[in-house]
Amino acid sequence: MGTLGEKMSGIGMTSARTRARMVDRLREQGIRDEVVLAAINAVPRHIFVDEALAIRAYEDSALPIGQGQTISQPWVVARMTELARSGGKLGKVLEIGTGCGYQTAVLAQLADEVYSVERIGSLVAKARRNLQSLKLKNVRLKHGDGSSDLGEDLEMDAIVVTAGTAVIPTALLRYLKPGSRMVLPLAHHGESGDGVSHLTVVTARENGYREQTYDAVRFVPLLHGLA
Ligand code: SAH
Repeated sequence: MGTLGEKMSGIGMTSARTRARMVDRLREQGIRDEVVLAAINAVPRHIFVDEALAIRAYEDSALPIGQGQTISQPWVVARMTELARSGGKLGKVLEIGTGCGYQTAVLAQLADEVYSVERIGSLVAKARRNLQSLKLKNVRLKHGDGSSDLGEDLEMDAIVVTAGTAVIPTALLRYLKPGSRMVLPLAHHGESGDGVSHLTVVTARENGYREQTYDAVRFVPLLHGLA
């Protein structure tokens, strides 16, 4: 057994290999978009979790990040990013629910600009430290409540809501232009309460919106107000 420092540098050295294996598993689990898989492969997930959990960073599971919140499961991050991109180019992306900033970093690999909003102040600070260590220049973070209007004029190619809700946060839909989409875990009738929802894509059209339902997922809830 070495010192903690040696163990951590060991994780650093092997992380590229274990991450490549994680990406292979995601491909086997049905993630098709190679641009998304390359983005996942480029982001060291272990720096987004506490040192004691770093050894588990490349398992396909959600992990605690403090404040009762979690870092999303890699498959969920990959799938939501795949649905947000839909095979096209992503200019500006809005993420609701920064958490520790993992999906923010993944989105930053394939979008021109990522704007991420988090309601818990201490997590905004944590995400800022994590993202600074990756030297990402195309990310903006805000301490705010993304369940309602952000009080800004925005035009986004995609909005990714990374917390579960039984109602679409309609205040954000005005940030979409025709063809742009919101991806969110939406609890359908009878699903609310136990955290189960379905990944849902809401696409803006010239005349209204189209809603499509995808995989069943489990998420922490979208809450109101700042903390
Ligand atoms: N995108 C993160 C997921 C973090 S979990 C990742 O890559 O791991 C979901 C996050 O949404 C939590 O940090 C939670 O505090 C935040 N959240 C919940 N309701 C919110 C709201 N109304 N506005 C902004 N963030 C919210």
